[in-house]
Amino acid sequence: MVAAHKKARALNPKSRRPAKELCSECGLCDTHYIHYVKEACAFLNQQIPALEEAAHGRSRDLNQEDDLYFGVHQSMMAARKTDPIPGAQWTGIVSTIAIEMLNRGWVEGVVCVQNTQDDRFEPKPLIARSPEEILAARVNKPTLSPNLNILEEIEASGLKRLLVIGVGCQIQALRSVEKKLGLERLYVLGTPCVDNVSRSGLQKFLDTTSRSPDTVVYYEFMQDFQVHFKHEDGSEEKVPFFGLKTNQLKDVFAPSCMSCFDYVNSLADLVVGYMGAPYGWQWIVVRNPTGQAMLDLVQDQIHTQPVTAQGDRKQAVQQSIPAYDQGVTLPLWAAKLMGIFIERFGPKGLEYARFSIDSHFTRNYLYVRRNYPEKLDAHVPDYAKKIVAQYRLPKN
Ligand code: FAD
Ligand code: SF4
Repeated sequence: MVAAHKKARALNPKSRRPAKELCSECGLCDTHYIHYVKEACAFLNQQIPALEEAAHGRSRDLNQEDDLYFGVHQSMMAARKTDPIPGAQWTGIVSTIAIEMLNRGWVEGVVCVQNTQDDRFEPKPLIARSPEEILAARVNKPTLSPNLNILEEIEASGLKRLLVIGVGCQIQALRSVEKKLGLERLYVLGTPCVDNVSRSGLQKFLDTTSRSPDTVVYYEFMQDFQVHFKHEDGSEEKVPFFGLKTNQLKDVFAPSCMSCFDYVNSLADLVVGYMGAPYGWQWIVVRNPTGQAMLDLVQDQIHTQPVTAQGDRKQAVQQSIPAYDQGVTLPLWAAKLMGIFIERFGPKGLEYARFSIDSHFTRNYLYVRRNYPEKLDAHVPDYAKKIVAQYRLPKN
């Protein structure tokens, strides 16, 4: 029997969301679970420590640097599939875990995101019930995706064991309503997420950054300080971060992502990204025993190595603050030179991950302070305040 819970009428797709411009279109408000929006929405009610406690048995220890940065975890490693999945974002560890969980009967369905027939970047969330459907959802849709719009379908389907794949804001809302879904078992496989965009924002980013926007099938902000684009014909294009036309791109990132402090997906059981690993490897954060059990399913299909850290990010972060803030763009030759220098001498491994977290948290802290000063104190978690306090910020 489905757990009794309160319902409210879902919003129609065009109407304004309760979080207004900060809405990340996570999908909750497309369902009758909108009844819980004030509590569940990541942008209306930041409650990461309490949800960490519920999901992992404790909240992160702010006096331990790895906890402070990467959230509650029992282990981290670099990994890659011995036999990568063609067309996956990296080597396809996420899709592989999901397929194994389905094939072995751990779950009856997997919430993931395919793309629509006409647009390779337009997200289409679904509950996949076959390996083929999971595989068809591989690769990032680098746009805000309403993954939780399937919540009513979960309830109606009578599924009892489910895996949800998602990014931080989706997972925060999911964790808040998890007990109301009538599931016997929920597994959460997360990816880190930062600087996401609406579909029209994505077009602007591609148009201003790539030599051939219409043929891009994949892109990633890589650890070598360049954006790597892959095109339909298999060719690669690299654009240095420091050469991005930040003056034109200033407003391209969604306001939700400019005010997000859950880069590392704190509430997933297992997180699979790349930013704490050497180039070409994925980065795995096992948050709790459930996450370990999920990872164990694919141990015979992956190589692993310990995570490492090199360099010192602090100066680079301090210098990035005015660059982000004022939208500074370097000429291409200078951007390339700076990229080569930073790649050779700059932060690597976990230190690169900390660089990326520090520069995004300082930028986002300034954004919230300027645009939503009344939200600042409650919305910024204590771990993020501690990270931001390491840097000198402009006065206003
Ligand atoms: P695959 O096997 O290719 O599977 C990808 C999975 O992602 C699919 O199951 C699909 O359902 C899901 N997915 C695709 N698009 C979305 C979406 N918009 N919302 C929710 N789920 C989606 N990692 C970092 O270390 N640093 C980052 O800054 C970072 N930014 C990211 C930004 C976005 C928008 C996304 C979606 C991911 C980001 N990641 C980041 C994670 C990283 O890019 C890879 O997704 C991850 O390493 C898994 O790779 P894979 O080859 O195992 O995934
Ligand atoms: Fe609703 Fe999600 Fe938007 Fe918050 S982010 S207003 S929960 S759709």
